[in-house]
Amino acid sequence: MGIKPKFRRCPIFIDCATKRVTNCMLQITVSFFRIWQSAIRPLKTVHLLALFSLMTGNLAYAGANQIKNVIPIQKPDLILFYDGNVMSMEGPYGRPSIEEVLPVSTSTLAELLASEARVSVEREISLTLNKNETLADLLKRANFTSSELYQVADVASQKINVRKLGIGKNFVIGFDNNDTPIAVKTNQSDKFDYFIFKNNYGSWQGLQAIRPIDREFVHGAGIIDGTLYEAALEANVPLSTLDNFMRVMGFSVDFQRQLRQGDAFEVVYEKTTDRTTDKTLSVGKVHYVGMVLSGKKVGYYRHENNDGTIGWYDQAGKSAVRTLMRTPVNGARLSSSYGMRKHPISGYNKLHKGVDFSVPTGTPILAAGSGQIEIAGWKGNYGRYIRIRHNNTYQTAYAHMSGIAKGVYAGAQVEQGQVIGYVGSTGRSTGPHLHYEILVNRRQVNPMTINLPTGKNLLETERGRFQGVVNKLNTYIQNNESTNYVGVTLN
Ligand SMILES: [Zn+2]
Repeated sequence: MGIKPKFRRCPIFIDCATKRVTNCMLQITVSFFRIWQSAIRPLKTVHLLALFSLMTGNLAYAGANQIKNVIPIQKPDLILFYDGNVMSMEGPYGRPSIEEVLPVSTSTLAELLASEARVSVEREISLTLNKNETLADLLKRANFTSSELYQVADVASQKINVRKLGIGKNFVIGFDNNDTPIAVKTNQSDKFDYFIFKNNYGSWQGLQAIRPIDREFVHGAGIIDGTLYEAALEANVPLSTLDNFMRVMGFSVDFQRQLRQGDAFEVVYEKTTDRTTDKTLSVGKVHYVGMVLSGKKVGYYRHENNDGTIGWYDQAGKSAVRTLMRTPVNGARLSSSYGMRKHPISGYNKLHKGVDFSVPTGTPILAAGSGQIEIAGWKGNYGRYIRIRHNNTYQTAYAHMSGIAKGVYAGAQVEQGQVIGYVGSTGRSTGPHLHYEILVNRRQVNPMTINLPTGKNLLETERGRFQGVVNKLNTYIQNNESTNYVGVTLN
């Protein structure tokens, strides 16, 4: 099952601009005819008399105007002159999208030119541009005469930069039944092909065609029996997809601490293929992420909001995005949790007011949320230290850093996920690790257990379209005999 883009072909091939002008003139003619039919032709003697009286009335009004305090004669309503025809009022037509206007490219030159221009190509060859070769040189190789060669180059230059063609650029040349070259095809961009051909009137013209791109959903799922990474590899989930999966899920799932054997994951991502070449153009754009964690289910859907922003929401419209990350380093192992412990250096029992992540020196530390830097510098036992103020309620702090990233200083704004510094062992520390704190109303809390606020939830105005996205994906997932984690949310 895939989402195939809808295309409409031009039924006859005329340059689309010309076609639009012709359409427009046709519409004007039709409009005039309609006005004649509905307004002028039905006028009968009685109407003409009324029209006459209107005019004289106006004259009388003009005359009367010279005398003050005379009630002006009312103008008759023009609508009274018309028969009771209902006239439809249509709004202006929207501009058609390029997909609707352009023909769809085909793998052979012959196919497209037969259907769009009624030109027969008997044989076609593929030539690639050699080093130091111009388009003219290549066309000479294909037996174009010097006069036609320039006409072809001229038409080509309307859509492609003929002076900047790369070595290896491909051109398909088509020949007629006399083995005379009559057509050239090249690709203009990832999206368009450009056809140059001799039309049935003997002149060279260009035709842009849209490359047919198939978009299809791919489903990946598995039971975690080791690491998520291994399970994803086993399910042939591309790494870029896994990255996206973890980025969305990472707000609600701590992959280091929460994953258990038997937990499951599920992802729906997109693959685009060029139908003419069967080449995969892109893979990895994620549309759905789902997990089962110790029996609890969570699923998020990608939704493009009307303002163009992308959001990830569960079925109820709750955002997947938390305003703070629980783990601000990648690949971390929790080495010391929040709570009472014997301090490794002083030996006293003390409340550990943060969590320690054991990561190698130099590992980038990410801002757990967007905000303003309050402190960036040395702070006693904390060593090199950064504190970010995220809003009135939340702050986060990072300690023992080996270095602070460029552009990070007190007063600077940082974005969530931005690298603010690097793991080290400065201050009172026994080895390289990140000491991380979340502060609520200026008091440290346990980053691993605190209920973090969610990001912006789905707007009510988006509800309808979002439900469409959810239904489409759920149907797809169910049809793929998935373990179906869809539809149930965590907490
Ligand atoms: Zn610590």
